[in-house]
Amino acid sequence: MSVNIKLINSRVNAILKSLPELKLPIDVKAIAKSLGLNVMEYDLGDGVSGLLAIQEGVGTIGINPTEAPVRIRYTIAHEIGHFDLHRDKSDLFVDKQMIYRSVSSGDTPEKQQMEQEANVFASALLMPSNLLRKEVEKAKLDLASGDAIEALARKFDVSTTAMAIRISSLGLI
Ligand SMILES: [Zn+2]
Repeated sequence: MSVNIKLINSRVNAILKSLPELKLPIDVKAIAKSLGLNVMEYDLGDGVSGLLAIQEGVGTIGINPTEAPVRIRYTIAHEIGHFDLHRDKSDLFVDKQMIYRSVSSGDTPEKQQMEQEANVFASALLMPSNLLRKEVEKAKLDLASGDAIEALARKFDVSTTAMAIRISSLGLI
């Protein structure tokens, strides 16, 4: 069992290419809409960040409006990932706040893999590698500095944690 990063990147790139324009921060709500997904606020209760429910082929993303905007953006991107990659496997995905920490030990291996894949997808969608590399070069950022990571996080409208993980997984640091 392993996450096919190449496949996920190609799915994300196909979505990014289909956008009328590519500018920062990535408009995840517009992307959801372009894929026919509704995004709605729900009272999901404590500890639940989001969900994806699919009924007769139509997907609805539920977000928790009490969470920070950067987290909501990440959740939407993660649920788009489930819709794009996993909609033939299940029609309901419920995501607890653990999505930042990748996986829960209580999950089946298949579920753990789907969560990892949705996280890789979300990270690639919100922080496209070519745009991220361009920003780093343009500003001649020293990625060893926390300030640089914060500045990038603001530019891409993601959490500094998500940005730090992305930079490290791309081997930029
Ligand atoms: Zn998930």
